[in-house]
Amino acid sequence: MSKKELEKQLGFQTLSVHLGNAPDSETGAIQHPITMANSYLLPYDPTDVNWSSSSGHLYTRNGGVNQKYLEEKIAALEGGEDCVVLASGVAALSGLFFALLKSGDHVIFSSVTYIAVYRLLNELFNTKFNIETTIVDTSDLDAVRAAIQPNTRLIHTESPGNPTLGITDIAALAEIAHQNDILLSVDNTFASPYNQRPIELGADFSIESLTKYINGHGDAMGGSITGKTKYLDIIRAQSQVNLGATISPFNAWLIMRGSVTLPLRMKQHNRNGLAIAEWLEQQPAVSFVAYPGLKSSKGYDIAQKQMTNGFGGVLSFGLKADHDTYNRFVSKLKLITSAVSLGHDESLIVFIGENDERQYLYPDEFHHGFFRLSIGIEDTEDLINDLKNAFAETGLQ
Ligand SMILES: *Cc1c(COP(=O)(O)O)cnc(C)c1O
Repeated sequence: MSKKELEKQLGFQTLSVHLGNAPDSETGAIQHPITMANSYLLPYDPTDVNWSSSSGHLYTRNGGVNQKYLEEKIAALEGGEDCVVLASGVAALSGLFFALLKSGDHVIFSSVTYIAVYRLLNELFNTKFNIETTIVDTSDLDAVRAAIQPNTRLIHTESPGNPTLGITDIAALAEIAHQNDILLSVDNTFASPYNQRPIELGADFSIESLTKYINGHGDAMGGSITGKTKYLDIIRAQSQVNLGATISPFNAWLIMRGSVTLPLRMKQHNRNGLAIAEWLEQQPAVSFVAYPGLKSSKGYDIAQKQMTNGFGGVLSFGLKADHDTYNRFVSKLKLITSAVSLGHDESLIVFIGENDERQYLYPDEFHHGFFRLSIGIEDTEDLINDLKNAFAETGLQ
């Protein structure tokens, strides 16, 4: 039985614990050490060495060993053939776009995506490299079909999307892409591979900001692209050797360690996320709650189908209040921290104002300011009490 076949028989928690780890052959230590050396011993005759190779054991910018261990684990968790781990989620996104797109190509991307996607594709790639872009609400499959051109090379989407939590039918989108010889990449950061596996739904690439759920502790940055080796070899070489977006060995090691408890943490994020979304929906001062696990949510049926273990810990909600009340509300929170990022062990909240430049791309309810709340793994009751106190102290009840 091949290693890949053996992996297919193991459960997600077992893979999270064991993949990419083995006793150290030199010392017998039962965890791989952190290898911080940035260069590796050359062979007796180094003159035939390819200095631009990213196959490892040469120079850490070309690829380090801690990174390789992490790649092995993420590939298994995502159910993909191969994985490249890079310095950040944005390094993964830019690495993918840089490697796949060339001048004259057309790319379709979702109207709700991480801000860097908008900047990269809509402000940099199109003006610097003559790449055409069309922004489409990818939950509307007819709109996607209508946007396809003969030179469309890639469709990029996010589901759930940041920050509207909008849901796209990944399997249906993959079918449309492949009927037209187009590649599909899905940013899976909000779900994590515990809740959703885009490759199994037909996507060509699954992107993760490892900074979020997979590391889970708010103390390291990384990003991954999982997909077919034939594309990933190109992405790995260009992103690392040429663009220098290699992850540090220490960060790869930290993420390796954080990811051991991914499924355990996700269970609690899923439980807390749903409980708090349902609670917020009942508060009279709340104008709307966006969370794919709510029956009232537009994407509920598709989310049920493709998010097999739960809906994660991120939600957005609005207040029936003015700008300053949003800020006062946050100042009254004692447990929930005002900070960007998400998927941490602790709960984080960010107030996104009514002047957000991409607001025209979001549903109407997002036009008057809203919170994005990333629910952590604290006790549900404590988080609800923290919110309850903030409502009371802000005079919103
Ligand atoms: C945070 C985030 C990214 C970017 O990841 P970094 O690790 O911060 O570079 C990309 N996509 C989504 C959906 C994110 O939330």
